[in-house]
Amino acid sequence: MLTPAELKDIVTDPRTIITKLDDYIIGQDAAKRALSLMMLSRSLMVLSKFGIIDKSVPIQKSNVLLVGPSGCGKTSLVKALSEVADLPISVFDITSVTSAGYIGSKVEDILARYIDESFEFWGNRIKDFRTKFQSVMFEPTEDILVGLLETGVIYIDEIDKIHCKTESGVDVGGDAVQNELLKFLEGCVISLTSHSSSASRRPARIPELNTKDIFFILGGAFKGIDDIVSKRVNSNAGIGFSSTLSTDKDRNAKADYFKLISSQDLIDYGFKPEFVGRIPLRACLSPITKQILMDIILKTKNSCFSQYKDMLALFGVTLEIEREAVELIAEQSMDLKIGARAIQNIFFHVLSDHVLGVYDITDTKVVITRDLVLSRGTLNEV
Ligand code: ADP
Repeated sequence: MLTPAELKDIVTDPRTIITKLDDYIIGQDAAKRALSLMMLSRSLMVLSKFGIIDKSVPIQKSNVLLVGPSGCGKTSLVKALSEVADLPISVFDITSVTSAGYIGSKVEDILARYIDESFEFWGNRIKDFRTKFQSVMFEPTEDILVGLLETGVIYIDEIDKIHCKTESGVDVGGDAVQNELLKFLEGCVISLTSHSSSASRRPARIPELNTKDIFFILGGAFKGIDDIVSKRVNSNAGIGFSSTLSTDKDRNAKADYFKLISSQDLIDYGFKPEFVGRIPLRACLSPITKQILMDIILKTKNSCFSQYKDMLALFGVTLEIEREAVELIAEQSMDLKIGARAIQNIFFHVLSDHVLGVYDITDTKVVITRDLVLSRGTLNEV
């Protein structure tokens, strides 16, 4: 068995994961904390599965719910996590399941695609995995590939769309999809033989997979849930949180209510109690502000600005941006009301002529000024 020092040596400190995520995602600290806790549980689950730590120590599987408006960084956070943890995380949009087809098999298709993607990733790394654990005399008792697939991570986006209530009177089969997903969250053995995609290079020796230890991250905007929360909080006026909220001048701010979402609120929104019970970690992401947008442009790894900068540098052109231009782009993004997604559109709009004309460009320096951004036309044209 591992000593605490050996364990710390092979399992990444969750705070390191948070720090690395900071390079990619501005703010959203609660979500970063929840995800890095999930990663710690997942690492321990892997070690337990292979008998590297005592199997009798119960490891809690901690699925995570990310609640936040569109464009606030939920998907990007998951992608960044995949990058910093060097782990494949398959991303699905649940609305593709609700839109057509027999729901049971559609939900299983999610798992089949997850296996294809993860298999591709792990196929090349089983040797690295063995090497990493050689120091602790790792002698696997079960198939390493199956063990890794059974402890993977899946992100399901737009999860709020499968609530059982319908505002518009359109039934999207939320109840049925919840039941199917619940089977995965609780753990079931899925036969894979009937779900082989033609592109699959899955070995025949994996005819089925147990989902019990697969970690799920569920994300959604949960539009309207703040009304449910505010009703509950205000009707309990005088006790608990509500007494604090009633003296808080920002108590009507939607974001505050989102932070107070309880299990009961999710049930009232249209989720089954068993489903809610399977998502112990919840985090709310803040809506995007002007300052966050400015930080996204200037400080994040892989930001739109740095991508254009790197690309133009290949052609010998230096790209700079003035602070006033950053502010204006942030303001224009706010006006578009699609979260940080707007930044990409605006940069494309502002720089498309420079990129298209890069073969003829004579200046060695391009500066994005406020005037250049303004000269690209009105917001409607963005
Ligand atoms: P969501 O999944 O919440 O709808 P996304 O993660 O798809 O939003 O974000 C849309 C775009 O905005 C991405 O290009 C992402 O890089 C950027 N973005 C959004 N929020 C943040 C943030 N907090 N930090 C850095 N980039 C962000």
